[in-house]
Amino acid sequence: MSAKNMLDNAIENFNNAAVLLEKEYDKELLDILRHPGERTELQLSPLLSDGKIHIIKAFVVKHCGAIGPCKGGIRMSPNVTVGDVSALAMEMTWKCALIGVPFGGGKSGIVCDPTTLSKLDKQTVIRSFSRNAHNHIHPLIYVPAPDMGTNEADMGYIKDAISHSMGNATTQGCYVTGKPVILGGIPGRREATGRGVMLTVLEALDTMGKSPKDVTVAVQGFGNVGAAAAFELFRMGCKVIGISDVNGAILNRNGLDVAALQKYYLEHGSLQGFAGSKSISGGELLEMECDVLVPAASGNQITAENADRIKARIIAEGANGPTSSDADRILEKKGVFIIPDILCNAGGVFVSYLEYTQETQQEQMTEEEVYERLSKRMRTRFRHVYDFSRERGVNMRQAAMLLAVKTVCDAKVARGYLP
Ligand code: NAD
Repeated sequence: MSAKNMLDNAIENFNNAAVLLEKEYDKELLDILRHPGERTELQLSPLLSDGKIHIIKAFVVKHCGAIGPCKGGIRMSPNVTVGDVSALAMEMTWKCALIGVPFGGGKSGIVCDPTTLSKLDKQTVIRSFSRNAHNHIHPLIYVPAPDMGTNEADMGYIKDAISHSMGNATTQGCYVTGKPVILGGIPGRREATGRGVMLTVLEALDTMGKSPKDVTVAVQGFGNVGAAAAFELFRMGCKVIGISDVNGAILNRNGLDVAALQKYYLEHGSLQGFAGSKSISGGELLEMECDVLVPAASGNQITAENADRIKARIIAEGANGPTSSDADRILEKKGVFIIPDILCNAGGVFVSYLEYTQETQQEQMTEEEVYERLSKRMRTRFRHVYDFSRERGVNMRQAAMLLAVKTVCDAKVARGYLP
């Protein structure tokens, strides 16, 4: 996907909501929100184990801090651009507002392929990012988390780098979420986004009078989000028939044992060859006959080019921005029910918020408490968006965007507009 498209889609989604809010808010206020508040480009220069200095670009984007400190993950990918990061930061603003946590939207990008780095070299790159971005990372300014290409261990290195730069053994307050539990992380954060996806799918099925046992599911991506979403849907009784990763997909029409597949993936590093499955292409997975499709990989996977061939009745957007605006229009005509990203994958940031409050108050929550609060929040917010979409006669994405943008506008007005 081109960076321009990802930002274009984010802006188009915003414009569709803004046009319905023009009578309520000043045009200038809506104009402010169309663009990020701050974009920073950094140059990292880590010395890696090949003995060479590597020049690596990185970005930190803060879209809007009207409701609270900017929140958003760090994406590490050779293709990530400042446009992508801006789009993702903007989406974080809407997501935090919609799910009801006191954060604004931010995001970071490191232009580097994590799959080509040794463990130690990846840690060096992450520490280099921490050093160079230290003016931006703070509990009251911007609090990063994992995203594509980064994980729990990386968040632990960030906490360590920051505490040492301050001359302390630890940090006071929450500088980063998604950390290992032993370093102040919260149980259940790793699974939170995937669990949230599952909870919104169950709610959508409920509105249609369907039981999880009656539905088939295909999942694109088997990372943080995809693997947890596939497992949670499997645990709830759905028949998960197809799963893909960047190297291809597997299919078993009788249903894959996702618990066994997770173990297999850990051992083999690949989906291919899993007992009882057959190999198909990633494109075939997206277009396969199924009830629920969960895109949980990268952006712009469902576009005007393939939207017409999508057969799923529900699309649960585990990934950020997986559906282009053109595809949205085609899918709407086909009657596909879309659970939009800012709702569907908001479980991660909700549990990050629990981690933030836990660390601030120096408490420790149990996994049961986390799951109970996540479950309640995802279900009530889904219902809120669903009821609003019926009441206003708009689709789920428009309803979610309207509610989110309105909340952010109200915060801006309450502050008296000035940043
Ligand atoms: P990850 O790096 O852990 O996993 C990405 C997965 O997608 C991998 O299995 C990779 O092989 C696969 N993949 C990449 N390109 C693919 C392709 N073309 N076809 C099929 N599979 C492909 O990343 P993640 O953290 O799971 O994030 C996935 C998506 O979810 C991203 O869009 C991210 O922004 C979004 N998201 C993540 C979180 C989170 O908590 N990690 C929260 C909200 C949204």
